[in-house]
Amino acid sequence: MRTPKECIALIKEYDFAIQKKFGQNFLIDSNIIEGIIEAAEITKDDCVLEIGPGMGAMTGYLLESARKVIAVEVDRMLIPILQDTLNGYDNLVLINDDILKVDIASLIERENDGRPIKVVANLPYYITTPIIMELLEREEKITSITVMVQKEVAQRMQEGPGSKSYGALSLAVQYYAKAGIVLNVSKNCFLPKPDVDSAVIKLDIYEPCERPVKTENPEQMFALIRAAFNQRRKTLLNSLGNAQELNYTKEQIAEALARMGKSETIRGEALSLPEFAELSDILSQQ
Ligand code: SAM
Repeated sequence: MRTPKECIALIKEYDFAIQKKFGQNFLIDSNIIEGIIEAAEITKDDCVLEIGPGMGAMTGYLLESARKVIAVEVDRMLIPILQDTLNGYDNLVLINDDILKVDIASLIERENDGRPIKVVANLPYYITTPIIMELLEREEKITSITVMVQKEVAQRMQEGPGSKSYGALSLAVQYYAKAGIVLNVSKNCFLPKPDVDSAVIKLDIYEPCERPVKTENPEQMFALIRAAFNQRRKTLLNSLGNAQELNYTKEQIAEALARMGKSETIRGEALSLPEFAELSDILSQQ
């Protein structure tokens, strides 16, 4: 693990300019990195996907613990630093790309013969939600996701109805995974210091039979959830009734809500995960 001084020396040596637009806050505290690796329970059998290896602070630890590490870094200026500092490892696959443009299913097929992987990352905070949503949709190919995120986002993943930050991310996380905050992390553990506090959260992906709710059509349930929270201040009758990707009339939605014993003026933010599942199943049967 590099000290902050060594980090700065590396930045100077490679004439590297830290890019705020890529959410670059590099970890400089070895205790935190060791905590993440321990929480992720990496073994020599594991293939790990690291999103945003940065200057490789955590990548070295992952390479020591795992069978294989696939590291996807968008900033091409970091690639020579990673290649040079990690050049002794033959279990690294380094990819210079935007993770949101990578076909993760094909990557897993190619690099791990389609067997499930673990994801470990200190995520770029500006795209945390789309990354997590994308990973959860690949849940059958992922066993766990251990990631550093903004503290509020870690809390949002665990919120229920009644909280301001409850939304599509909370519901997706709760449907697909058992979530637990592993570490709270101070701003001082990064270079440069971010404006926000951080937390490491681990999502252990459920087997389909372990999920907390059963629904006939998860895709439709998530289409309802997206529509409900796209217009979160509107009643469900309006947000679902107006949604282009759904094909239900306001009468059908009102009837479904009545069958659930819910008022026509209820908003999506008041429904729990089991209630979204129930609404979805009633609408499918209509
Ligand atoms: N893992 C390093 C560490 O802990 O020191 C760096 C973490 S830093 C918070 C986030 C990293 O993600 C940066 O290296 C950044 O360049 C990279 N990144 C940002 N956007 C990305 C994207 N769309 N795809 C892949 N990597 C990205």
